[in-house]
Parts: sequence; C-alpha cells; structure tokens
Amino acid sequence: MTTPSQSETALVLFSGGQDSTTCLAWALQRFACVEMLGFSYGQRHAIELSCRDRLLAGIKSLQPEWAAKLGDSHTLEIPTLADISDTALTRDVAIAMGEDGLPNTFVPGRNLVFLTFAAALAYRRGVRHIVGGMCETDYSGYPDCRDATIRALQSALNLGMATQFELHTPLMWLDKAATWKLASDLGGTALVDLIREHSHTCYLGERGARHDWGYGCGECPACALRAKGWREYAAGGA
Ligand code: ZN
Repeated sequence: MTTPSQSETALVLFSGGQDSTTCLAWALQRFACVEMLGFSYGQRHAIELSCRDRLLAGIKSLQPEWAAKLGDSHTLEIPTLADISDTALTRDVAIAMGEDGLPNTFVPGRNLVFLTFAAALAYRRGVRHIVGGMCETDYSGYPDCRDATIRALQSALNLGMATQFELHTPLMWLDKAATWKLASDLGGTALVDLIREHSHTCYLGERGARHDWGYGCGECPACALRAKGWREYAAGGA
C-alpha cells in the first residue's frame, strides 16, 4: 500500500456504524476529498443508514477542514443480497452459530459485493482509493473480512477494470478497543462521543437502551463486541 496523496479523493464504505465512522474520520485526515457509500440490502439493522445524517452533521461541526472535504454521499440498493441469502442479518431468526462454524449473521460474499459495487462507482467517478472497515482481528470468523480476501479482490478489481484501485482497511489489525482509541486519536473525545451517541452497531437494529458504549440490545454479537471494546478502551484510561 502506498501513501495516499493528499490531493486525491477516497470513497469510504459508510454504513453509520462505529467502524465505518472511524474509517470516515481516518480518510478525512488523509485525503483531499471524501465521498461516502452506504448499502441498503434488506438488513434488519437498516436503522444504521438513518444514523448517517446525524453522524455527518456531527463530523462537519467537529472540524471545519473535515467539513470542507466531505463530498457526495451515495446509497445503493442491493435487495438481491437478502433474496439470495438466508441469514439472521436479513431474516427475523435468532442469531446462532451455524454448523459450518460461522455465525448465521454471515451474509455470504457481502463484502465482495460491496467492494465490487464501490469499485464500479469509484471507477465512474474517477476515484482510486476505497476505504472499508473490514477487520480480521474481531471478524467473527467472516472470511470476507480477511486481509488476504481484500488483497485478492483488489487484484481482481484492478485486472477486471484495468485500473489501479487501492483498497484501504485501516481497522484490519485493530481490536474494538483499539478502534475506539483510533477515533480518539483522530478526533479526540468529541469524535468518540459522537460515535457513542449516533453510530449504530446492533444487529437487531435496537436503539432503545443507552449504554455507556452507545445504543443497542446489549446482547447480540455486535453489541457484545462493541461493549467489550469500550470497556477495555475505557479501562485503558484513554
Ligand atoms: Zn444488539
């Protein structure tokens, strides 16, 4: 991975969750212009998409130079993903571990589809850098979050579109505590507080109860991971 040019534009996969909001701040720190892309694919936690506006408003008010860099925000509809996958992320069934060792929240190939659509959009808009929150450390066993998968897809996209995309995954080797720390490093307590208050992680789409790490059911794997990371981050005295 080369050092991104400050004069270039990046397209960030921005769902409205903790990880993608941190990635957005990471990109705003590094690129001249940042566009955003979210996907509507029939997810039970579609509420995360509606968090984006409040997060963007917050990010704009946080740092004037970030506000100046924010470009277009895109949403692509991929309902087919829910049609062809039978998972707890897109169906009203209990989250459980499957016989294949993967939780049934796994939507097969989701990140491959997302990044391929992102690349097609980036291609049309002349954008070379794509940023995603995939993470191998806390990845729940999702094989499409692995670094090797992302590297292979980058090669495939560059071959298939005859271009020079760079897929950036700043969270790849971080755990959730380190992701909170990265947000703090990028935007201080104000960014951490914005993410706690307005980003959405809960798989079930619940925003009823406010915990010290934010809103969510508190029980699903996504909530459990976010809560654990917050406790470790807070215990670190940051
Ligand atoms: Zn939850």
